[in-house]
Amino acid sequence: MLLAPLSRSVVHKASRALLVTRCQFSITCCCRAPELARGSYSKVTGVDLAHFRSIVGNNMLTDTTDMQPYNTDWLRTRQGKSAVVLRPHTTQQVCQILEYCNDRNLAVVPQGGNTGLVGGSNPVFDEIIVSVSLMNKIISLDEAAGILTCEAGCVLESLDAMLSDKGLVMPLDLASKGSCQIGGNVSTNAGGIRFIRYGSLHGSVLGIKAVLADGSILDCLSPHRKNNTGYDLKQLFIGAEGTLGVITEVAIAVPPKPKAINVALVSIESFDKAKQIVVKAKSMLSEILSAIELMDDESVEMVVKQLNLVNPLKRSPFYMLIETSGSDYDHDKQKLHTFIESVFNDEILIDGTVASSIKEMKSIWKIREEISNALMIDGRNFLHFDLSLSLSNYYRIVDDLRNKLPACTALGFGHIGDGNLHLTITSDSEIDINSYVLEWTKRHGGSISAEHGLGFDKCQYIYHSQSQKAVSLMSNIKKLFDPKGILNPYKTLPL
Ligand code: FAD
Repeated sequence: MLLAPLSRSVVHKASRALLVTRCQFSITCCCRAPELARGSYSKVTGVDLAHFRSIVGNNMLTDTTDMQPYNTDWLRTRQGKSAVVLRPHTTQQVCQILEYCNDRNLAVVPQGGNTGLVGGSNPVFDEIIVSVSLMNKIISLDEAAGILTCEAGCVLESLDAMLSDKGLVMPLDLASKGSCQIGGNVSTNAGGIRFIRYGSLHGSVLGIKAVLADGSILDCLSPHRKNNTGYDLKQLFIGAEGTLGVITEVAIAVPPKPKAINVALVSIESFDKAKQIVVKAKSMLSEILSAIELMDDESVEMVVKQLNLVNPLKRSPFYMLIETSGSDYDHDKQKLHTFIESVFNDEILIDGTVASSIKEMKSIWKIREEISNALMIDGRNFLHFDLSLSLSNYYRIVDDLRNKLPACTALGFGHIGDGNLHLTITSDSEIDINSYVLEWTKRHGGSISAEHGLGFDKCQYIYHSQSQKAVSLMSNIKKLFDPKGILNPYKTLPL
């Protein structure tokens, strides 16, 4: 057993910044039928462009090369054909744009950092792209109350860095944080690695300002943690994937930055033992547990092979990354040691290491956070699923697929503490396993999208996780907010 001594100097959280690189690869994605017809929206004319220029001035792109990064998604599975990208600076400009588009019946796709993984942030046909990237101002920070109000285009990592200087922290953290924006995070109800500690954005987001399809403003920007005054409309926008309005401002609760961080990587011989670790970590580390991530051998080998990262442990079937964040270094260190000793004595883990420096913490986190990049570099076809499953079913689907598809490689990793599995299947040939996996998930009572949303790729499968009644109510809400359906058509709800 390799247990490095804990160092008192490790009191700051290692930055888990990831350079989100984009590279060439091929992917089989869960697409809609290719025969999907363009909705009966108007087409952008020269008169429209002149009008948009009068609103946003030069913050408008029409050159195909300039628009390419906006028309294409992070996974490079989408190739929209938008004729114009609008980059407003203010909520007022967004109002003017949407009012005009609604009158002219022009379809719009709101876009943030464009890191979404379900084809939600790009045009399916020629929808106008409204990018909020230039709306990136901090509006206010109430340090005493821990409440940040900012514009939707603020990049998550920049917000975290700004807060860090004030002894505060964003309540969410994703591997895409160098590019994703708070408006996009709220619109996807992003989960990520701090979810186990700070919970869902449905709890952390205190208010939003959004521009509705007709150009009117819905101001629900409450700066209060408690506000029981009628229906909580902002909740509808959290996870609406740009189908109900364009979010322009967000108020969010920002907790104190933990003073003591510890990161451990352990290896385990079976999934059954990984489950035992989850249960024990939650009970023994309780309030200081800030992340618990699972990676199988195939996932770790992918980063080792493609990115030359070093696995500090002997090769084994499973690995778990466990992070604690608290306010008392000695107390936390003692708790983590007691936990690791306990699972070691119970023969639950094979091996483990505790980071003794920020550099070591970063390299442990890098193994987990670079899996998506490594898959892109690998270059084979891959299918990615983001499932919520009970702990007892969590890894069964991976084993099942290995038996069913012996020629493919199935990888399982993810936020095991929240029951969120990122299942990826890679293959040299095209893979057609989408329906099988989603049916399997439905049969086992899971959710077909734990945190990435439905976007374009998965909206036709909504009934796997929602009832007819629920989807019918959602369609009515969509009609109420956006009667002409100009906002992010072909996404989230089934056609
Ligand atoms: P975009 O991709 O631009 O848009 C996403 C959706 O939101 C689209 O439907 C878009 O129309 C809509 N939208 C964007 N901005 C607005 C706005 N201002 N108003 C209205 N609608 C808007 N996700 C997780 O949940 N957890 C993870 O751990 C995680 N890890 C990731 C790791 C990597 C390497 C990558 C590439 C992605 C990861 N994601 C993860 C997915 C993605 O980063 C999140 O969904 C993120 O919240 C998207 O934010 P964005 O600003 O890039 O939004």
